[in-house]
Amino acid sequence: MTPQPVRLPSVTYAGRTYTRVSSGNNVGRYRCTSGARDSLQRDAWRASGKKIPRGFVIVNHRRDYTTTNLDDLECVPKEDVASATLARATTPKRCLACGELFGRRYGARYRETSVQFRRRKTCGMKCQGLWKQGRPRGGRMP
Ligand SMILES: [Zn+2]
Repeated sequence: MTPQPVRLPSVTYAGRTYTRVSSGNNVGRYRCTSGARDSLQRDAWRASGKKIPRGFVIVNHRRDYTTTNLDDLECVPKEDVASATLARATTPKRCLACGELFGRRYGARYRETSVQFRRRKTCGMKCQGLWKQGRPRGGRMP
């Protein structure tokens, strides 16, 4: 038996099908499977009669890529999204164990990714240990 191809999740909007993008920069977003392969939320925005100026993108702050509710969507300049992402990746955070501010790790041999930095709760290994001790086994991260 040949295995059946995995069907990607999809939604129907205004009579057209939009399938979840599974790789690349647009992972998680929904794109139309026919005609102009535009994204679900761009089409929803334009269907309401609003324009998307050149260089602008449609964002949903909760990262719900299936919503077509215009109250949840916002049309913003592309640069603003990039700078918001950069700010999240570079703004110092407060250590949950000692309360000191700490930044993203940049070293000659090791560079922390923005996602690693966002997930890190403490300033270093010592605080990481202290912080973990104070928490129940398998306890949820705050
Ligand atoms: Zn600390």
